[in-house]
Amino acid sequence: MTTNIRYKSRIPIKSDETPEEKQYVGFATLPNQVHRKSVKKGFDFTLMVAGESGMGKSTLVNSLFLTDLYKDRKLLNAEERINQTVEIIKHTVDIEEKGVKLKLTIVDTPGFGDAVNNNECWKPITDYIDQQFEQYFRDESGLNRKNIQDNRVHCCLYFIPPFGHGLRPVDVEFMKALHEKVNVVPLIAKADCLTPNEIKKLKDRVREEIERFGIKVYQFPECDSDEDEEFKQLDKELKECCPLAVIGSNTVVEARGQRVRGRLYPWGIVEVENQSHCDFVKLRNMLIRSHMHDLKDVTCDVHYENYRAQCIQDMTRYVRLCRDPRKDKNGITTRTLSLPPL
Ligand code: GDP
Repeated sequence: MTTNIRYKSRIPIKSDETPEEKQYVGFATLPNQVHRKSVKKGFDFTLMVAGESGMGKSTLVNSLFLTDLYKDRKLLNAEERINQTVEIIKHTVDIEEKGVKLKLTIVDTPGFGDAVNNNECWKPITDYIDQQFEQYFRDESGLNRKNIQDNRVHCCLYFIPPFGHGLRPVDVEFMKALHEKVNVVPLIAKADCLTPNEIKKLKDRVREEIERFGIKVYQFPECDSDEDEEFKQLDKELKECCPLAVIGSNTVVEARGQRVRGRLYPWGIVEVENQSHCDFVKLRNMLIRSHMHDLKDVTCDVHYENYRAQCIQDMTRYVRLCRDPRKDKNGITTRTLSLPPL
């Protein structure tokens, strides 16, 4: 047996190490090394928002990240919207908090569900998601894999209108078209339009329909058994609360002697961050504090992996066909010479 010692430990030996510390090799510091490296590199996250225009998407995104991402947005009138096709608009901001940098990309989908005929209006959105997978696949298979820019969509917040009696056909079709490609998180928009009883009824209905139509929305991972009790309780509440009912606001109002993000009505104030008014805080905690990494993992390990496996299968089939051209059912032998599309 040969042993090749290729790497030597470069951990500086402290002279004041206790006898107990001297017994350790030092690999317990690995998590710290990983932490340092990732903080230095920074993080990125791509969030897509979809739903009819006027559902409060931009207001919610601004409330979530405390930025104004939609300064230059041009709103179309009804006439302009008749022939409008679904557009994909990307907004990117660099946010820094306690030395940790996050490159946040919001992918907006104006025009979705706004036309008179909404047949296949989700197509530009699914195409966009596929294009990002394709780009990543090309970059990953290329020569320079060091600085790949990852534009894959990690999560799609889908806004369900609060006015109906559950999901509309367009909601069902949209989520079914996307659920194998991206983590879909359905939200009940503008929850302040409903009473607590109505919210409960709508949530039950949406949950039941998601199940009935076989829609695979993002599943929160099981809580680790060694997590503390408080975390387990929050996780349980989050799971029971879905689909989350949210409220957004771009204004700060005074409530109970404090300045809060809220909506001022003649009959009172609706506070965005008040957990008895809506699930905004649960959504923010989930997206940013507790599940951002899992959303990225599922994107990479499940959705991208499916895309990649399909691509490789198609390419293998193509290569086999080139080597051994078969006659089709009409007896015609086809031999395509161009490279297969990824
Ligand atoms: P988007 O087109 O989906 O991006 O919608 P906007 O964010 O531009 O919001 C459209 C309108 O709805 C604006 O007048 C907002 O002030 C209002 N709005 C946004 N969020 C809410 C909400 O949670 N509740 C209510 N009642 N109105 C909202």
